[in-house]
Amino acid sequence: MFEKSTWIRLPRNVVVGHGVIDQVVDVIDDLHLQGRPLFVTSPTPREVAADPIAADFEAAGIDPAIVTVEEATFDAVEDVIEIADAEEVSYLVGIGGGKAIDIAKMASHHLEMGFLSVPTAASHDGVISNRGSVPDGDTRHSVAAEPPLAVIADTEVLAQAPWELTTAGCADIISNYTAVMDWRLANRLKNVEYSEYAAALSEMTAEILVDNADLVRPGLEESAWIVSKALMSSGVAMSIADSSRPASGAEHLFSHQLDRLAPGAALHGHQVGVGSIMTAYLHGGEKGIWRDIRDALDSIDAPTTADELGIDDETVLESLTTCHVIRDRYTILGDGMDERAAREVATVTGVID
Ligand SMILES: [Zn+2]
Repeated sequence: MFEKSTWIRLPRNVVVGHGVIDQVVDVIDDLHLQGRPLFVTSPTPREVAADPIAADFEAAGIDPAIVTVEEATFDAVEDVIEIADAEEVSYLVGIGGGKAIDIAKMASHHLEMGFLSVPTAASHDGVISNRGSVPDGDTRHSVAAEPPLAVIADTEVLAQAPWELTTAGCADIISNYTAVMDWRLANRLKNVEYSEYAAALSEMTAEILVDNADLVRPGLEESAWIVSKALMSSGVAMSIADSSRPASGAEHLFSHQLDRLAPGAALHGHQVGVGSIMTAYLHGGEKGIWRDIRDALDSIDAPTTADELGIDDETVLESLTTCHVIRDRYTILGDGMDERAAREVATVTGVID
């Protein structure tokens, strides 16, 4: 008796490349979206992208409502929901880095409306995935939400974002290696649902990025092209799995815990990259791929040590030994690392002195 079934939700249009920001109105047309949009943006992306897109909409006879958010919080999501109701909009467009897009994603989920994602920084894979994440007190909540109807990633805009945001996006992709190792382990040990397609796609994405690491250089628009395609592909892997597992393992737990212990100290992608070096060591020991991960991060100027993250050694160790509890997600960290073992892995991999 065959009883399996799956439901894969993907964006319908993915538009990537030079100058594609001019095509947002065409995408709306292609999707047959009617009515008024609400643009959710933040201060800098508003100037760079949201205002020019609004002008295109006006020229096409559509009058968008615009809300500028300062921080990704539940309050901001509430505000956006209220404005969407008051302005009688029929879909949302998130225009910005992670913040604006996460808020648009979560608000649209609540409003049961479609949303479009227009990233202005290639800093993490949340720009396409169906997961939203906002801080809530001293924790961070990852919430299932709708995947965007469309993603429009303009490489000219992305290339203008601060360089470290791009290297953070790369590091987030490189961490797919360890995320998949954790996923396989959880499948073997805990019978966690596993998708061979999603795992293979996630690993291949990391591999292509590493193979093209020489082209990831500041000022090169091609960097934005490589990174945004990788982020899309990683997002598709998550959609196929209907889980963040293909791109989020113990290295993400480590990063989320650092967010609580040292808020704002380093970028998400940079933290998961450093976490990935250590969890790769835990998976494979001395002969594992931890050196390849470290070298790949190093070649794109992403941090490989606590020092480069701007986080002190003791905080890194605290995160390593405590992060297994923040989420019910089985990884190589199992039921937690002993303090001496944590010091050992962090020292051997050169993350701490
Ligand atoms: Zn990530």
